[in-house]
Amino acid sequence: MSASIASAFDSGNIRVLRQDGPSAFTLSIVPDAGGEFFQWFHFRLSGARGQEACLRITGLNRSAYPLGWPGYRARISADRQIWRAAPTSFDSNEEEGTLTIRVTPESDHLWIAYFAPYSIERHHDLVARMAILPGVRARVLGSSLDGQPIDCLEMGEGEREVWFYARQHPGETMAEWWMEGALEALTDPGFAPGARLLAQARLHLVPNMNPDGSARGYLRTNAAGANLNREWANPTATRSPEVLAVRSAMEATGVDFALDVHGDEALPHVFIAGFEGVPGVTEGQLRGLERYKALLLAHSPDFQTKVGYPPSAPGKANLSMSTNQLASRFGCIAATLEMPFKDCADTPTPETQWSPERSKTLARACLAALADLFDETRI
Ligand code: ZN
Repeated sequence: MSASIASAFDSGNIRVLRQDGPSAFTLSIVPDAGGEFFQWFHFRLSGARGQEACLRITGLNRSAYPLGWPGYRARISADRQIWRAAPTSFDSNEEEGTLTIRVTPESDHLWIAYFAPYSIERHHDLVARMAILPGVRARVLGSSLDGQPIDCLEMGEGEREVWFYARQHPGETMAEWWMEGALEALTDPGFAPGARLLAQARLHLVPNMNPDGSARGYLRTNAAGANLNREWANPTATRSPEVLAVRSAMEATGVDFALDVHGDEALPHVFIAGFEGVPGVTEGQLRGLERYKALLLAHSPDFQTKVGYPPSAPGKANLSMSTNQLASRFGCIAATLEMPFKDCADTPTPETQWSPERSKTLARACLAALADLFDETRI
């Protein structure tokens, strides 16, 4: 029996270049709109039960993050619930950069993805599940280019305005797993820091800022090919309505603290990038960010501050990026949280690598650190 590959489903992405044997395929990734970025893949292998499948994804030296491939392991699942790491190798000299996944499926279907997917249907399940809880308000901030709602869940009675938003880059699905963890924690009466935060702040959570890119199986852009995290200085209704909708809602509330949730393809660490180079940034803003990082260190063994992006030079921050734009516009504390696609080198779990469960656990730590920060400061 010959195996087959399919990707015409929610967040699917792969192109079959050729079949090399009964369960051997040479593949490539379809770029996002605009043709500039590709890295996300998600497909189903069928009809290879009990056979060693050899899946070769080629052309990766031209992918968005070539340094993402060495040391990376693809994720596989038979039931689409539990995802684990597959034996994976990368050779930059083979067919312009080739990732080879070797796996023997134990059942007739096997799903393979860059990271555990977070589907649009699961997004709607999450929003629906939260919207019916007491104290939660579900708002639609606007519409994507494909007509999907930009959902926002709000709760809390305090004076501070807190914004969490995720998946500007749709292939960074760990960001929405993080959001699921945050929402479950905030609505869990047994999670004490959640109750403190709800008394300290009004919380606005946007679990998915880029539903079009998510559904289309993109890494980094929306339907128009816009990298949303380069649109915050001048978002427009035709190119980046998703950013325009969220930024307008932020204008209406003001922002005291904002967290932009991402995944990093190359670095095997959890880290935070700040807004150091923003013109006119205050000592108080920078002190608040440093204090937040120190508190998060105390709450999470996964978080660290040794490895990350170098801060931009004074006055040189890119104001088209959300955290810089928000720190500049609102004088707030704004941070970009990065989780790895690889395993977390500080607290490795080789069987799964970084995972949905670990993303959700990190969300709880991030909330606890924020509750501590608000307890000790007057921002
Ligand atoms: Zn990102």
